Amino acid sequence: MHVAPTTWPEMMGENRKLELEARKLKIGRLRLIRRLPSCARYRLVEWRRNDAFSRSFHRRRKVNIILIGAQGSGKGTQAEMLSKSLGIRHVASGDLFRKAISEGTALGMQAKTYIDRGHLVPDALTNAMVLNRLEEPDCKAGVLLDGFPRNIAQAEALDNDLQGTDRTIDGAIYLEVPRDVLLQRLSGRYICRANQHVYNINTRPPKVAGVCDIDGSELYQRSDDQGRAVQERLDTFFHETIRLLDYYKQYHKLVAVNGNQSIEQVHEDLMKAARSLAGE
Ligand code: ADP
Repeated sequence: MHVAPTTWPEMMGENRKLELEARKLKIGRLRLIRRLPSCARYRLVEWRRNDAFSRSFHRRRKVNIILIGAQGSGKGTQAEMLSKSLGIRHVASGDLFRKAISEGTALGMQAKTYIDRGHLVPDALTNAMVLNRLEEPDCKAGVLLDGFPRNIAQAEALDNDLQGTDRTIDGAIYLEVPRDVLLQRLSGRYICRANQHVYNINTRPPKVAGVCDIDGSELYQRSDDQGRAVQERLDTFFHETIRLLDYYKQYHKLVAVNGNQSIEQVHEDLMKAARSLAGE
C-alpha cells in the first residue's frame, strides 16, 4: 500500500483509509504501519501525535502562545489553523485595529494614521486594546497571540499584566521566512472585502481577477501592502520585533519554525513547536 499524502486533509483521509485497511486485513494498525515506506511512516506517526495532542490540548490547561513572524510570513493563515487545532482563541492585534477602524471608533481613527504609513501604533493604545481583549471570557481558556507583542515594551507590559493572575505565557514561536521571499509575497497580496480571504497575484491568484473565489466579494490591496509602507513594516520587524526572540530565549520560551515550506508542513511543524512549549 502506498501512503504519501501531501496536504493536511489528505493526511486525515489517509489515516482513515489506514484504519479501514487494517480492519479489513485483520492485522491491527501498528503492523500495517510497519509495512509502510519509512518516510510515509514518519509523517503518519507525526500526524497521529499532533492529532492526539490537539484533541487533549484544551482539556488539560490554559495555554497561551505568541506567534512571531514578519509581515507576509503566513502568520495570519497559520495562526487561524493552529488556534483551531489547539482549541484556543486567535487574537490578532491587526484585526482588532482594522475592526476599530471599520467601526469608526476613536481608537480606530487614532490608529489609522499610523497604520496607513506602515508605522507601529503607539504602545499605550495597543497595550490597552489587546490587554482588554484578553480579559474577555472567550480568551480565558487560552489564546494564540498574533501581532502582539511586537516590541520589548509590549512584551513587558504583557508580562506585568499577567503577573498575579493564574495565567502565563507558555512561549513564543518564531515563523522564520527570508526577507526577499517576504517582499515578493507582500507586494502581490490581495484580500477580500467581505471576509479577509487572502490571495497572491504571483503565487495564488483568484480564478477571476479581482474577485474572491469563496464569497465573490471584491479583492483589494491593503494600503500598507503598497510601496514604501511595505519596506517600512519589514524594517520595523527586522530592527525591533526581532529583539523579542532574545527576550523569550532568555526564559527558554522560544521555538523557531521554518515558514518557507508548504502550508501543511508549516502547520505540522507549528503543532510540534506548540507541543514542546506545552512541555510534551
Ligand atoms: P502586519 O503584521 O502585516 O503589518 P497586522 O494586521 O498584524 O499586519 O497589523 C497591521 C498594522 O496594525 C501594523 O502595521 C501596525 O501599524 C498596527 N499594529 C498591529 N499590531 C501592532 C502592535 N502590536 N503594536 C503596534 N502596532 C500594531
